[in-house]
Amino acid sequence: MLLTTLSTNQLPFFLSRRYGYSSKSMALAEKTQQRIPQAMSGGSSSNKNNNVGFISSWRRMVGAWATSNSTNSTDTSNEGGPSDGTQLLKKGIAEFYDESSGIWEDIWGDHMHHGFYDDSSPVSLSDHRLAQIRMIDEALSFASVPSEEEDPSKSKTPKRIVDVGCGIGGSSRYLTRKYGAECRGITLSPVQAERANAIALSQGLSDQVSFLVADALAQPFPDEQFDLVWSMESGEHMPDKQKFVNELVRVAAPGGTIIIVTWCHRDLKDDEESLQSWEKELLDKICKDYFLPSWCSAADYVKLLQSLPVEDIKTADWTRYVAPFWPAVLRSALTWKGLTSLLRSGMKTIKGALAMPLMIEGYKKGVIKFAIIACQKPK
Ligand code: SAH
Repeated sequence: MLLTTLSTNQLPFFLSRRYGYSSKSMALAEKTQQRIPQAMSGGSSSNKNNNVGFISSWRRMVGAWATSNSTNSTDTSNEGGPSDGTQLLKKGIAEFYDESSGIWEDIWGDHMHHGFYDDSSPVSLSDHRLAQIRMIDEALSFASVPSEEEDPSKSKTPKRIVDVGCGIGGSSRYLTRKYGAECRGITLSPVQAERANAIALSQGLSDQVSFLVADALAQPFPDEQFDLVWSMESGEHMPDKQKFVNELVRVAAPGGTIIIVTWCHRDLKDDEESLQSWEKELLDKICKDYFLPSWCSAADYVKLLQSLPVEDIKTADWTRYVAPFWPAVLRSALTWKGLTSLLRSGMKTIKGALAMPLMIEGYKKGVIKFAIIACQKPK
């Protein structure tokens, strides 16, 4: 309850007492977006005990503030029946991104997805941005979408792209520029769609790329429209994975490529029918904070796709390539800029921040997997 009585001006003092973190170093962290001391970072394997202590302190600290400031919250459970549950989930997702996208953009830029890294050593924020771009390029290369070097005449590169769950349009604009293509992005968040269109306009791209509020499970596009169907970290939000993949396949043009990069739970072993109960509990907690329905595995996606008219289905576990990401997001939330932005934001953003240590735990314990699934629609 301590934080309830503190104004943001008093935060440096509070943190210096609580964690031995000086106001000077916080000012420096704000200026440089550097990492904060190890005891707070939750990132080093040599500091496991500190991490556990810190993670629970972090949850307690922000949680106390959040609870005391909570006026209402959106329950995403299915209490009122499946369709009520789905509507509530969609509303929660829209509000979560309406509320948190500005802060994310301010600190992390326009890509709201993991970076792709060679190893797990900590890197600077500018390196994280490069790693996020690299994630896009690695996904394209995994799915054998030709690069500009491989296809200089651009005869095989995508001309029409849909970005399903587009955030504020980082991938859409990158892909549009990379291929000289046209792109449509859809999101549930009106704030994201508006911001994505504003950035496209300011970058002179509004003739080629545009964004609208629409549901990925009922896409507002005719069949067989897009050479590249792109879903970067939106699949985890979809309450009906079968409908989700059906729609991705429906809007893909003959010969088009479908790429899904998404959070999954681990594949089940042959003798398992479900995850263990501690694993389910961990994922349930994350679901509440990030407005996620139940999780599935990469193998489940493959099964769903196998029932559809697609070929060359490929999947890979990229968990090891994303290891530095969540510790870095947590560190950036704990800079002065991160903390003050967070405390000025709403409940949903604060709850999302609280779930960061759970994501780190999920990856470390092997429950959460970062997966890519790609396939082609036959010509
Ligand atoms: N792909 C983006 C954003 C990822 S954040 C990027 O890489 O930057 C997840 C996105 O999925 C948000 O934009 C959210 O609005 C969107 N989303 C979640 N459920 C959706 C649904 N049912 N229909 C459309 N978009 C959805």
